[in-house]
Amino acid sequence: MSGWNLDNSYARLPRAFYKEMDLSPVAEPKLVKFNEKLAEELGLPTDGIDAGWFTGNVSPKGSQPLAQAYAGHQFGYFNMLGDGRALLLGEQLTPDGKRVDIQLKGSGRTPYSRSGDGRAALGPMLREYLISEAMHGLGIPTTRSLAVAATGEITLRERPLPGAILTRVADSHIRVGTFAYASEWATEKELKALADYTMERHFGDIPNKGDYLAFLHKIAERQGKLIAQWQLVGFVHGVMNTDNMAIAGETIDYGPCAFMDSYDPDSVYSSIDREGRYAYKNQPVIGAWNLARLTETMLPFISLEAANEVIRHYWRALNAEWLEGMGRKLGIFKLIPEDESLFDDLLALMKELSADYTNTFVAFTFEEEIVGLKNWRKRWQNRLEGQPQSWEESQALMKKNNPQVIPRNHKVEEALMLAEHGDMGAFDKLLEAVQNPYESGAKEFMEPAEPGVCYKTYCGT
Ligand code: AMP
Ligand code: MG
Repeated sequence: MSGWNLDNSYARLPRAFYKEMDLSPVAEPKLVKFNEKLAEELGLPTDGIDAGWFTGNVSPKGSQPLAQAYAGHQFGYFNMLGDGRALLLGEQLTPDGKRVDIQLKGSGRTPYSRSGDGRAALGPMLREYLISEAMHGLGIPTTRSLAVAATGEITLRERPLPGAILTRVADSHIRVGTFAYASEWATEKELKALADYTMERHFGDIPNKGDYLAFLHKIAERQGKLIAQWQLVGFVHGVMNTDNMAIAGETIDYGPCAFMDSYDPDSVYSSIDREGRYAYKNQPVIGAWNLARLTETMLPFISLEAANEVIRHYWRALNAEWLEGMGRKLGIFKLIPEDESLFDDLLALMKELSADYTNTFVAFTFEEEIVGLKNWRKRWQNRLEGQPQSWEESQALMKKNNPQVIPRNHKVEEALMLAEHGDMGAFDKLLEAVQNPYESGAKEFMEPAEPGVCYKTYCGT
């Protein structure tokens, strides 16, 4: 029988990196969502599961719960943070040989909770489940969601809300902020232990142990690619603090994130991001800034010049991925230098027209008319005709790279509101659609919101 197969390698790191914890049981565990497909991949049973595993009421076999220590630059300011409402249960060793973190989010107070209650509300946990699964469907590296379990307790926010816990699955929860913590509060020996551990866990293909430059280059490459992929689908993370940047290169921490409707590089959704630090257009440069915070922590082991080269490597990876990705979205197989201005001109026009980001590319794919883009379209068609491939081949490439269904903000809100009142129907329908984004979904999921609706998202919910 398949089941828990937990190891606890993180707990074998120096004690500075975590606090051992007891589980805090909740009043009445009840599964609201369970990701059967993911459970199977993890080697977990899909029936006979215990809701208590996902709330801290029942300890999964082999688990050794701990809260991880980390710091973070939040909106540019350095803070000590740590898991204030999460517990790492252990690392599941999967049937196909992977090692992934199993973490409860919303599991109660820890020594790192500061003024927080350590808990989470049902709506935001379902939101993370939905958006992370949408990202996975899009083919973008992300933490996954195994379960959302209601606690049977009330969580007090602006109003009393039903409490819930998300079970998050990640390559690991080691972040830029983990290194920042080590650099600030641990010894150099402990920092080295963290670097060696992370390198072995995520970048086992680096031939020389202790080659921290190769390590940073690999991280830069994954991060550059990841952020380019966000840009290509119009995803705004919303809170790119260094504690929310995973070393393994997965998208992590779905708080105030959103997909943009009409194309606007200034798009910001987070209610607290008043200056637009984490606006869509700033994501690449913030990625570089965060990476610079990471390379700084490694200066005991590398030169400043080498550190700067890491950042340049990030930009190369990001730009290459973005250009190639735009090419694929437009049916172009092999880039030429002029393509960059072709793409830039399209985006400038889309901005002027307030064109829906997702639907514009869908319209190109299915040869639908778009008002205001006639001249640009001619240029693009000439470009395609200059390729050896047929239109059908271009179209097939475009279908694979232009999602038709994204979790549109108004649909997400509608689904969450109903879910909070016990009706999971709309949520399940939307989830199914966003898990298969390259197929055409129901028309209701493909239409943008009514114009003029201003959408806001919230942190720390
Ligand atoms: P986030 O904005 O979700 O990345 O969280 C930033 C920091 O605040 C992390 O250290 C979290 O663990 C902590 N935090 C967020 N919400 C809570 C809460 N309700 N109780 C305790 N800590 C929290
Ligand atoms: Mg966070």
